[in-house]
Amino acid sequence: MSDNLLFAPMPQATAEIDGTDVRFPVNRIFCVGRNYMAHAQEMGAPVDKNTMEPFYFIKDARTALIPSGSTIDYPLKSNNYHYEMEFVIAIDKPGFRVAEADADDIIYGYACGLDMTRRDLQLIAREVGRPWDFGKNFEQSAVLSPIVPRSEVGTITEAAIELRVNGETKQSSDLNMLIWNVREIIAHLSQFYHLQPGDLIYTGTPEGVGAVVSGDKIEGSVAGVGSVELSIR
Ligand code: MN
Repeated sequence: MSDNLLFAPMPQATAEIDGTDVRFPVNRIFCVGRNYMAHAQEMGAPVDKNTMEPFYFIKDARTALIPSGSTIDYPLKSNNYHYEMEFVIAIDKPGFRVAEADADDIIYGYACGLDMTRRDLQLIAREVGRPWDFGKNFEQSAVLSPIVPRSEVGTITEAAIELRVNGETKQSSDLNMLIWNVREIIAHLSQFYHLQPGDLIYTGTPEGVGAVVSGDKIEGSVAGVGSVELSIR
């Protein structure tokens, strides 16, 4: 620790890399809103790709990120706590105004993520035009599986994505149903931010989101990537 800091800073957020003890230092967690049509429709906000652009929110990595397999308490100040199963991309190179054709070059690998959501607080904010932070950016709200390197699994553009609660399938779709695919998201987001090594992008959830209660066990998977698990105490 530097000797001129007032107190010890929170540790760097890191994620497991599959098959190695080397860890992936996590910088920002970007999340894409409404990136599967059937989910946008179930949220009452259909997307027209011809007239709309993707939008994002950010979760604070040091407080939100937790590993797959965690058991956590039901969150504070919510009575409608939802799972959202997502395909996650992990960036390991700087990217600014990245062309779609070059987007894969800044992807280190892929993971399974849960964008846990206090839906009641998100919808209250949405109704009055306030930021989504209370609904989205809270402690232990970003669950992540080990990252699989793209160098090992290849570039993934389609794969089954699923989520089960207590063994019952709740979400089932394919990455090829993304409204804005991974290359389009990187090209778009890198117009607004200088993407940095360590940034994660949660690419959005398919339809079938729903509430969980204490005692539930969530398991999500993306074919060829792995699985993510979370238990609610
Ligand atoms: Mn989401």
